Amino acid sequence: MGKITFYDGVKEIGGTKIFLEISKKRFFLDFGMNYKKRNLFFEEYLNPRVANGIGDLYFLDLIPKIKGLYRKDLVKFIRQEGVEELGDGKEKDFVDGVFLSHAHFDHSGYITFLREEIPVYTSKITETILRAMEDVSVTQFETSIFKFIRRPAVKTYKDPEYYGTHNAVNISGKLTFNSVNVFSYPVDHSVPGAMGFVFTGNEGAIVYTGDLRLHGKHAKDTEDFVENARAFKPKILIIEGTNLRGENKSSEKEFWTEEKVYERARDVIKKTTGLVMADFSIRDVNRFMTFYNLAKENKRKFVITLKDAYLLNAMHNAGMGVPSLNDPLIYVYLKKKKTGTYDMKKDYSEKWIKKLFELNIKTVKASDIRKNEGDYVFVMRYWDLQELIDLRPPKGSKYIHSSSEAHSEEQEIDEWRMNNWLKKFGLYPREHIHASGHARKEDLFKIVSEINPEIIIPVHTEHPEEYVNKFGSKVKIVEEGETISF
Ligand SMILES: [Zn+2]
Ligand SMILES: [Zn+2]
Repeated sequence: MGKITFYDGVKEIGGTKIFLEISKKRFFLDFGMNYKKRNLFFEEYLNPRVANGIGDLYFLDLIPKIKGLYRKDLVKFIRQEGVEELGDGKEKDFVDGVFLSHAHFDHSGYITFLREEIPVYTSKITETILRAMEDVSVTQFETSIFKFIRRPAVKTYKDPEYYGTHNAVNISGKLTFNSVNVFSYPVDHSVPGAMGFVFTGNEGAIVYTGDLRLHGKHAKDTEDFVENARAFKPKILIIEGTNLRGENKSSEKEFWTEEKVYERARDVIKKTTGLVMADFSIRDVNRFMTFYNLAKENKRKFVITLKDAYLLNAMHNAGMGVPSLNDPLIYVYLKKKKTGTYDMKKDYSEKWIKKLFELNIKTVKASDIRKNEGDYVFVMRYWDLQELIDLRPPKGSKYIHSSSEAHSEEQEIDEWRMNNWLKKFGLYPREHIHASGHARKEDLFKIVSEINPEIIIPVHTEHPEEYVNKFGSKVKIVEEGETISF
């Protein structure tokens, strides 16, 4: 008999942690950070104490309480408090691997806490993106997966014991674990490298969609996944439902395709005489290409921050079809750092930045852009807003917000703060131009009908009941922590 336990991320968006036991093999399907639950207790300046290992997360119920799952350097902190529930980190063979669907932290983040020997099965692209993000940021306690600091961090970084790692196993196609086969298929989502999975064992086939859509540039990938999944005549389909809004609300307005984003942004940029600022994640390759092509069309230079440049270079080298840093259009923006005087030796001494400079990148400073702001499209985000002080965009400049709208209280506060910045610099209201990374309701229903499973289990949604309205008793709404047998 097989079992699936839904530890997290069921009636909410993100934090997915699904435990699958099939033909004596045990896997996690994603092990994400649950932003919503985390935000109940923490915010920017109130964080889990790294000096308490996994203790803060344990006592606040932000991680599932499973023996033998977590790193031994972390569990020892709660053992010293007399808690043995998570074991001592020496238990063997609790889980055979984590299958990571894509490079978003709500699916990947908390893999960092898992025992070091647990392999991370994921696409080469997902690994590349996550590693590049780890290279450019200070090692994060909660989201550094492939290279993390062992706790307590008493040794120096030169000591080989200082860092720990999780090994990635790049997958595509079929993988076999005794009598279990795992088939992975690319699906279309707002980050490249996303995958859906089919697990087959003696008990039947289980399908997990991860996050996906049918209206993106690579809709064909999702279609192929659906067709392949259908052929297994699956017992259970675990499917996301981000865009279900409840009460049969139609969300048509939001359902823009990337082509529509292109057209709308083209109209805006054409009319803009000053600086164009575009706010989107560099990991969203389709969006990147939309704005890059629009910059080209409008004879503007395309400016990205140092961190984005590092990521772009990694994505270019991995063959993701994005331009190289030597592309004549691409300029890298230098922020004021350390001395604040743009001292190339003192201010930009990080290893990863030095690597970038070796690639002969073209750099610009705010003062260069200020000379003719109409010559540039600048990719910036919320945490780059201080640059507005140096850029002082002239009248006729535009801020294009091109990622999802706020859907939590924290995000609404951030949006309020962003609007204050935009008002201060004459950029309010911003243009909102975006195509969702998730399938619209009609497409989700189409995917379910085509795969035609015996049982449908919605995850990653605030409105699983919409699946019930459509598919009736075939839908099983699960509670957090619930186990289903099959
Ligand atoms: Zn997600
Ligand atoms: Zn996602």
